[in-house]
Amino acid sequence: MSTLAPSLSSAPYSTSTAPQADLAVLAELLDAGEEEDEIFGRFQIVEKLGEGTYGKVYKAVSKETGYPFALKKIRIRYEEEGVPGTAIREVSLLKECNHPNVIRLHEVFSNPSALYLVFEFLDMDLRVYIKRFGAYTDSLLLKNAACQCFRGVEYCHSHRVLHRDLKPQNVLVDVDKHTLKLADFGLARAFSVPLRAYTHEVVTLWYRAPEILLGQSKYANPIDIWSLGCIMAEMATSQALFPGDSEIDTIFKMFRILGTPTEEVWPGVSQLRDFKQEFPKWPDTHFSDLRTKGPGLGDSGMDVVQLCLRFNPVERPSARRLLQHPFFDMVDGLDQQASRGPWRQP
Ligand code: AMP
Repeated sequence: MSTLAPSLSSAPYSTSTAPQADLAVLAELLDAGEEEDEIFGRFQIVEKLGEGTYGKVYKAVSKETGYPFALKKIRIRYEEEGVPGTAIREVSLLKECNHPNVIRLHEVFSNPSALYLVFEFLDMDLRVYIKRFGAYTDSLLLKNAACQCFRGVEYCHSHRVLHRDLKPQNVLVDVDKHTLKLADFGLARAFSVPLRAYTHEVVTLWYRAPEILLGQSKYANPIDIWSLGCIMAEMATSQALFPGDSEIDTIFKMFRILGTPTEEVWPGVSQLRDFKQEFPKWPDTHFSDLRTKGPGLGDSGMDVVQLCLRFNPVERPSARRLLQHPFFDMVDGLDQQASRGPWRQP
């Protein structure tokens, strides 16, 4: 086991002192017979928080400071060569990302079969939050929450880090402080986004941009902007906008709302690998349903969602540009007024 950033003290761990509830979790962590002495020396595993795309996530408390962390174990299936150096390097770079709306990666440990990432801990993810508290019907709270997501994305994009798999499960919430932070930024480049989670659960496609679903091989920042549009719509309504159960079902759900894209709307669409001339031709609904179901958005919020959900990726404004949209004018602490030019000016 090697740690790439030792900073906390390392005390020997004794399973006999662990509370009973921890033993099952410990046994699970140790199922491959690996030696996690260093992690267990420094962290007390409290509970399993969930299972994400890349691995299991545990709540772990620092034995030195008592602070909680989220410990993510990413099992790597290159048993012979060990964890690829590229993955370790990519992930280690993410420790440099430091922004109030991006989950902080504190440490990275590795052994031949797994990487262990120690993240800042937050109360719950946005999917759970919306289920528990409902949609953001108050327009100011919605603006504030959405703005934090756009700021997190703006920060990562300005540091050339793409997310590629933004979804409510990857947005974490500090409930008391109304703070939202994006999780898993940069992991897709280190490990690629699999079609199935390591548990074989299908990875959700609901927030995936149409260019990815239609087979475009090169894509960039606009894919995260598309996901932000979907997340913002879901915040406003508590319902996913394109909840498809397959790639084609997700694409057709987009077409039913936005209209089937044409060459006029999205030059080059007909050349994409998975676009078929025989696709049904649905008309554009101009999001009439979303307008009714998400009153907190108002005209201005609807405009932001529609800009994020432009079929043509080059027409989706950057996160930086969108943060200058009048929708975000009233957000506390968003002191951009002075430096701001007219919204539509390129
Ligand atoms: P993920 O692999 O990031 O999708 O994580 C799976 C689940 O674990 C998430 O949906 C969250 O509920 C939980 N989780 C992940 N990271 C954290 C964190 N930093 N703090 C609290 N819970 C987390």
